[in-house]
Amino acid sequence: MEHLQPEYNWYSLDTDEICQKLGTNTVRGLDLNEAAIRLKNYGPNVLQEKPPRSLLSMFIAQMKEILVVILIAAAVISGFLGEWEDSIVIIAIVILNGAIGTFQENKAENALKALKELTRPFAKVIRGEKVLQINAGEVVPGDLILVEAGDLVPADARLIESSSLQTSEAALTGESLPVEKESAVIKAHQVPLGDRKNMLFMGTTVTGGRGKAVVVATGMKTELGRIAQLLDEAVPETTPLQQQLEKVGKTLGVFALVIVALVFCMGLWRGEYLPEMFMIAISLAVAAVPEGLPAVVTIVLALGVTRMSRRNAIIRKLPAVETLGTATVICSDKTGTLTRNEMTVTRIYVADKIYEVTGNGYVPAGKILEQNGSEVTQLSDDESLELLIAGGLLNNNAELEDTGNGHRVIGDPTEGALVVVAAKAGLSRKTAGKKYPRLAEIPFDSIRKMMTTFHRAEGGIRSFTKGAPDVLLRRCSGVLTRTGIIDLHEETRMKLIKINSQLASQGQRILALATRFWPAMPANLSPETIEQDLVFVGFFAITDPPRPEAREAVELCRRAGIRTVMITGDHRETAEAIARELSILQPGDHILTGEQLDRMSEEELKHAANRVAVYARVSPEHKLRIVEALKHHGHIVAMTGDGVNDAPALKRADIGASMGISGTEVAKEASDMVLLDDNFVTIVKAVEEGRTIYNNIRSSIHYLLSCNAGEIVAIFSSLLLGLGSPLSPIQILWLNLVTDGPPALALGLEPPRKGIMNKPPRKPKESLFSGGVGIKILWQGAIIGLASLVAYWLAFRWGRPLEEARTITFLTMSMSQLIHSFNARSLEQSLFTIGPFSNRSLVLALAASLTALLAVIIVPFLRNVFETAMPRPSDWVVVLSLSIMPLVLVEAGKLAGRLSRHRA
Ligand code: ATP
Repeated sequence: MEHLQPEYNWYSLDTDEICQKLGTNTVRGLDLNEAAIRLKNYGPNVLQEKPPRSLLSMFIAQMKEILVVILIAAAVISGFLGEWEDSIVIIAIVILNGAIGTFQENKAENALKALKELTRPFAKVIRGEKVLQINAGEVVPGDLILVEAGDLVPADARLIESSSLQTSEAALTGESLPVEKESAVIKAHQVPLGDRKNMLFMGTTVTGGRGKAVVVATGMKTELGRIAQLLDEAVPETTPLQQQLEKVGKTLGVFALVIVALVFCMGLWRGEYLPEMFMIAISLAVAAVPEGLPAVVTIVLALGVTRMSRRNAIIRKLPAVETLGTATVICSDKTGTLTRNEMTVTRIYVADKIYEVTGNGYVPAGKILEQNGSEVTQLSDDESLELLIAGGLLNNNAELEDTGNGHRVIGDPTEGALVVVAAKAGLSRKTAGKKYPRLAEIPFDSIRKMMTTFHRAEGGIRSFTKGAPDVLLRRCSGVLTRTGIIDLHEETRMKLIKINSQLASQGQRILALATRFWPAMPANLSPETIEQDLVFVGFFAITDPPRPEAREAVELCRRAGIRTVMITGDHRETAEAIARELSILQPGDHILTGEQLDRMSEEELKHAANRVAVYARVSPEHKLRIVEALKHHGHIVAMTGDGVNDAPALKRADIGASMGISGTEVAKEASDMVLLDDNFVTIVKAVEEGRTIYNNIRSSIHYLLSCNAGEIVAIFSSLLLGLGSPLSPIQILWLNLVTDGPPALALGLEPPRKGIMNKPPRKPKESLFSGGVGIKILWQGAIIGLASLVAYWLAFRWGRPLEEARTITFLTMSMSQLIHSFNARSLEQSLFTIGPFSNRSLVLALAASLTALLAVIIVPFLRNVFETAMPRPSDWVVVLSLSIMPLVLVEAGKLAGRLSRHRA
């Protein structure tokens, strides 16, 4: 239905024409019903994607795997050689294996898709005169949208109001510099895209200011939709671990070929039966290549990120899961991440007086008390206080909402605090707005650290500017006193700076407010000219308590070898007080301010970075320099960010973490991970999960490779000893493609272990096989192989027929591999410390594999197919005592390791 969308040169029409053509208006927007109807008619506001892969195509892809092709070829050849039963069984195993693989892949893909849904961008629309936040996919033509710095433009739209609005259209036009936007009609034809100053385009980002616009096109009808081909489904990203495994797989593939050739030649030399030798060689190749591994790793990663999402960390880029486990520094914003972002004004300074404000959080109930304890009941009695509170309320875009279940702020929490204090003083925006109706705004940005609004006032125009005290005081030339405005002398300025420091050293965020009178509205609204010659009015001291759980998380990081660095736009003293409270600042640690950073060369910063625990009064671009300096020392840096200007640092950090609640869409797009609750603790939990996932994947690899090694050792040495193959080809296939799979997967699902955060982070370049893992895989594999060989040899000695001897071997090999899965759970810890049943998935997986194994022995039909025999009761004694050997020996090895470490 998208073709229904009207097409005009929207830039050349005026607002009334646009509204009339789109059946909307600039105040109410669309009604909810109408919006729903349009969504049905025009379709969702998304670029078309290729349909997802079907189960069948996934299955076919599995069948194209080289190993599977070899197996199918082997099945065909054995058919020609007259071994029909073998061919059918091989095909059946291949299909079963393919079906399991498809099921796992589908599960992994669905899990990742569900995560993607959680990070879909939002759009702010006005519908039925109310501001709503909706999924950007639900925006329809005619919708009235609101955009501000940090937003993604959700659809193509014609601007009707703007204030200092700038967008980056690089995604569309390639132009990397921000473009100024304004709502004036462009009376021309054929205006190129880049010059349509009154239009906003889907896929571009708002880099500054704010604006209101009417949506004129959505989905594939937008300019972006026109140029976008069908978006290919995102190619699934592979993580470094997956890349490493791919290499391991290739090496093992070559190794397998060598083994196959060797075994085949050896069989020929020994005069073994040729078709059987051929099949054994093929099955050995299957044994050597850990074909189950890529699937296990994919699903463990996918399930791991699902688990992280339940702990409020949404992974946007899969490689981040592994990087998290290697993080050595976490650079965290203060406000909202380490603190609660529940801003409450507790003190006010104006005209030489300090007032206390009572009350908690955003509840607009509390009193304003003078120093002598008497309450300010009539605000109009105290003109300077009234001006300060009114200025704070008017130079402000936040709304206080009574949810019925408490109060919450829509907008900037700092501004919310000013709305609340005004309410406590009995001043509403309506009353204040009547006296000073707002005319224009120069929005806040974290580089200027100020915001200005213009208001009509008696006899002219009044501007209010609020911002960081140190910055604002530099722009003031006058000060408000009880007797009127006087010049701001250096002495008074120093006094005010001292008061600011005193308030800030208690960990409070201080905002200063200044004002200026204009005979008429200035023509040029550039901040440089406007935010000058101001009259200082007063300070608001705002508390934002640290998150109680953050201190513990900082300590946990320290034990885990991870440094926490606080980065804040706040004043040095505020930052220092909070950093001490959270134990981020330790003896010997340094604090750097943005100003000091500006004076430092890159070299000096690199030199200092290792000792700095707090960066105060910094702007977002400093963050990029900090990341670079830390990375120079080889640190793996996690960095949080929320604003539009944080995007470069988020991208440059090894792990960019954006804020789910207060973060802009641009920051989210640039990040590897979104913290749904904006909480520092969530990063630490994600690190813990990242470490766990890596360890788990290593356990799966350890398990699968040592099992494979066991099979090769058993078969190879048996052939070498002239005993023939101890397992039939189909038994080898069954072991590899069916028995080993479930425990390997379950090992990947091991829950986070206590103490995982008591160790330093793993080195990012560390190989999977370092730290003795490679050697362990080999010797533990050798034990499994030798145990099975002994079983076979004994049966042989006792004169048992081949079928029975192979059954005993098959059982020993399977059982020892299943029991060995317990060994693989930890490289160092004893199974009995971890608790044999603490991984429920493993217990279930073992039960499943055991059932499959017993079926092959007990069910007569399967016994026939797998060439097994019913074991005698005494055989079980042999099988069980040999199968337990890997567990006993590995436990002994772990004990020896622990003892020698203890001694060291
Ligand atoms: P953090 O970096 O700790 O998360 P932040 O990102 O909130 O803090 P900024 O938003 O950059 O820090 O704020 C820096 C300073 O700018 C604050 O200390 C405050 O003095 C001032 N400020 C913050 N919000 C506003 C606002 N809405 N209007 C005017 N000034 C503000």
